[in-house]
Amino acid sequence: MCGIIGIYGNPEAATLAYLGLYAQQHRGQEGAGIVSFDGEQIHRHMGQGLVSDVFADQQVLKSLPGTLAIGHTRYSTTGRVDVKNVGPLLFNVEDDPVSIAHNGNLVNLGATRRQLQKEGSIFQTTTDTEVIVHLMARATGERMVDRLVKALEQVEGAYSLLILAPEGLIAARDPYGWRPFTLGRCGETWVAASETCALDLIGAEEIRDVEPGEILLINSDGLQTVDHVTKQIPKHCIFEYIYFSRPDSRIYGANVDKLRRKLGKTLAEEAPIPSADIVISVPDSSNTATLGYASRSGVKHEIGLIRNHYVGRSFIRPEQELRDLTVKLKFNTVKGVLADREVVIIDDSIVRGTTMRNLVRLLRQAGPKKVHVRISSPPIRHHCQFGLDFPTEEELIANQRTLEQITKFLEVDSLAYLSLEGMLASMDLPPDHFCAACFSGEYPLSIEGDNGKDIFERTRPNKNDS
Ligand code: SF4
Repeated sequence: MCGIIGIYGNPEAATLAYLGLYAQQHRGQEGAGIVSFDGEQIHRHMGQGLVSDVFADQQVLKSLPGTLAIGHTRYSTTGRVDVKNVGPLLFNVEDDPVSIAHNGNLVNLGATRRQLQKEGSIFQTTTDTEVIVHLMARATGERMVDRLVKALEQVEGAYSLLILAPEGLIAARDPYGWRPFTLGRCGETWVAASETCALDLIGAEEIRDVEPGEILLINSDGLQTVDHVTKQIPKHCIFEYIYFSRPDSRIYGANVDKLRRKLGKTLAEEAPIPSADIVISVPDSSNTATLGYASRSGVKHEIGLIRNHYVGRSFIRPEQELRDLTVKLKFNTVKGVLADREVVIIDDSIVRGTTMRNLVRLLRQAGPKKVHVRISSPPIRHHCQFGLDFPTEEELIANQRTLEQITKFLEVDSLAYLSLEGMLASMDLPPDHFCAACFSGEYPLSIEGDNGKDIFERTRPNKNDS
């Protein structure tokens, strides 16, 4: 998962990209970067950390001139946390600069990369994204966008791509529309971004999505669809609605806020606690589902946990050590709200279960009569191959334990998840328009061979393997 933004046709393109990255910080906190093009030269600034860290010296934006810019906030799903993997990546294809920002995760790439290496390609990163650039370099075509059309015929998986090329800004989305991708406009300025919250911040109006399978070019001739792969039934990542996207964004044609509330309402119908005194959320990602649960159940909504906003989201930090520390730093209880009450706590999902168990222990210290946990999505039992860095299946608590065992592990009075059917019925689109593989185990694409996060970092025991 990552956040991407592209700006075309504005003398302050890099500054607008910077603001768009700020709005999409939740999509990746490992690194950020911007590449701009002034018509003659390409300029780049990137680094590890939050957008505010990487661009702490705002003079940096002055070193990124041009009317065309793309930006990227990184959350790694292929390739380790390393400055060389922070986007946008920048290369020369023949004599022309090409920069690429990618949200998603490509699959079935091991053999392709090995073949390219055998034929002489030297990779500079361990990302899946770089494979696309090597395929473009080998393709023929007058324009980069023509080369991209050919390159994308050879890759599978999830991608929303922004490419800065001599002919303009290129946007491409995989035929399943796995990740959100929106297009907006503000006067003469074109904007493409992962989420509409980025458009809102810079005052751009949402026009439409980049369609699944569409490759488009934006330049002085306006917007032109260069290629549109025959439409498949989309497989939008449903987890974007559950957790990842901001509630003030509109993705896949619907408001995240509205659907997240619906998830909470359906959960209240499926798993009520009539004797509960209050319902509280795990801030911030479950705030909206909690409002839905409270309104449908009639249980009073209270603020029982306070989140320290200066600590990042625990789930998207990749190292376990950091994650544990983050949980302790991140929340505190409002004792007057919780003491002597029967409490329902809503969360959007449970991954390993350790965060929730620590939270429940914290809540207990405030003296509630009972603690019930309700989850606004089904149990996560399977790995994600398409852009979310879930741990291995052995580390997913619902893959390893029954509901009863998880209830005991969390030390709660009761636990219930939203059903798969209830989740899908809460959506505006038909059930088959979504990927829900991490819940159901039904992967829309067959995944062959090794697609691990470190696939391009391991040394092969036998170099003759292909
Ligand atoms: S497996 Fe889950 S997280 Fe991954 S794309 Fe599908 S729904 Fe989204």
